[in-house]
Amino acid sequence: MYNKVDASIIEKLTEIVGKSNVVTDREDLLDYSHDEYSLDDIAAYPDVVVKPQDVEAVSKIVKLCNANKIPLTARGSGTGLCGACVPSFGGVVITFENMQHIIEIDAQNLTATVESGLMLMDFYPAIEQKGLFFPPHPGDESATVGGVIATNAGGARAVKYGVIRNFVTGIEVVLPNGEIVNFGGKFVKNSTGYSLMHLMIGSEGTLGIITKATIALMAPPKEIMTLVVPYENLHDAISTVPAIIEKKILPMAVEFLERETAVLSGEHLNKTWPCAQGKAHLMIIVDGSREEEVMNLAETISEVCLANNALDVFIADTKSKQKDILDIRSGIYEAMRNYMLEILDITVPRSQIAHFVDAVNEVAVKSGMWLPTYGHAADGNVHTHLMRYQWQDGKWIEIENWEEKYQTVRKELHDLGKKYKGICSGEHGIGIVKKEYLKSFLEPEQIELMRGIKKTFDPNTILNPGKIFD
Ligand SMILES: Cc1cc2nc3c(=O)[nH]c(=O)nc-3n(C[C@H](O)[C@H](O)[C@H](O)COP(=O)(O)OP(=O)(O)OC[C@H]3O[C@@H](n4cnc5c(N)ncnc54)[C@H](O)[C@@H]3O)c2cc1C
Repeated sequence: MYNKVDASIIEKLTEIVGKSNVVTDREDLLDYSHDEYSLDDIAAYPDVVVKPQDVEAVSKIVKLCNANKIPLTARGSGTGLCGACVPSFGGVVITFENMQHIIEIDAQNLTATVESGLMLMDFYPAIEQKGLFFPPHPGDESATVGGVIATNAGGARAVKYGVIRNFVTGIEVVLPNGEIVNFGGKFVKNSTGYSLMHLMIGSEGTLGIITKATIALMAPPKEIMTLVVPYENLHDAISTVPAIIEKKILPMAVEFLERETAVLSGEHLNKTWPCAQGKAHLMIIVDGSREEEVMNLAETISEVCLANNALDVFIADTKSKQKDILDIRSGIYEAMRNYMLEILDITVPRSQIAHFVDAVNEVAVKSGMWLPTYGHAADGNVHTHLMRYQWQDGKWIEIENWEEKYQTVRKELHDLGKKYKGICSGEHGIGIVKKEYLKSFLEPEQIELMRGIKKTFDPNTILNPGKIFD
């Protein structure tokens, strides 16, 4: 289907970006052959990695690949969890390490315009310094702006503020034919024809290469309070969430987790989870403009929790306690990383999460797999880890026959997602590893429309082939 990257292509790429920005050594290419998805069955080496410095260089690279029918895959920081940036057909990987500038922070329009290689860990402090706030917070701050837009990332704060899509107002994109276009701008409103910008968001690098983005910002909340609420079991913990929402309270974040996983993460980070009671916990963050307002919210939430079988309510009132709790919650993935097969992000309506998680736990018992499950309780986004090892009495023990159980359990969990009216990905994307489930969650007509869109944008199928659908 595709042509090979030969010496003349490498020479042309070198002319565009300079020798120091072309990587061809096999050893150095290893880092670009995978993302955070842990199994190497989907890994693939690119023939070459290029690191352009500006949009004109990106345009020339895309034109070269398109003219020569060479696959081209955009890569941010490779923190994705579904193999979306893996160059399945080899070819060229394009990275944005040399395109990390903040171009402008516009206090009058409340926007920031940045290059797509900027990492979130550099973006947050830059806008905080200006007294501004960017609510979306996907768990890994080394992710790039281009990557989080291309996956429409979410994170814990989505319940109140929304996902990345809600904050992108404009993007500069290089189309598969190499043309540079600007979708959107600094507008709050835009009803000018089809929103091609929104089509680009979440398209996993299959429709265009994002080189620049304009992001809407907000004033930061003045007061924040974190509650940790212990329960005897996950069912009671999760069932409380719709009751909180019924009170017309939308917290900034509502996370559910088992105490065991919080302790494991705490040990990994050398920090202590503040609550030793119960088997399952809710972590609830409320924000507001006045201390009294936040106190009132916390009080109402506490009443609802206690009325729904909570054992107690712990309030973290200092910044350092709040940070420890957040660090431990965010660190669960890292603590399990070396012992797991995959993390899922099936998303169901929030009224269904308790039933869905109960069913997941039944699969765990029946199969003998350890399936620690936690996630964003108020937006229905459930993260189940399919584990290769089980953490028992402070030790990691390999699960018997995990190879045989893995695929069956994986399918059963997706079937449950379907049964509880969910979708197979709430924030991580489809990439390679969830392609097989797309057709059970979307009607064939939807997939055909997507294929048609791909064909219109990229008739030669050079951009990130083999992702989302075949
Ligand atoms: C510990 C951990 C916690 C996480 N927590 C969350 C979470 O809470 N919420 C969440 O949503 N995700 C989470 N993720 C997943 C991951 O961080 C996101 O998917 C992130 O958006 C990927 O960004 P990246 O820069 O690493 O992109 P990559 O992984 O490099 O690429 C992801 C996709 O974006 C495309 N892409 C990258 N850059 C561009 C570009 N400039 N133009 C066009 N396409 C591009 C790639 O081709 C690929 O399809 C987590 C991951 C980890 C490891």
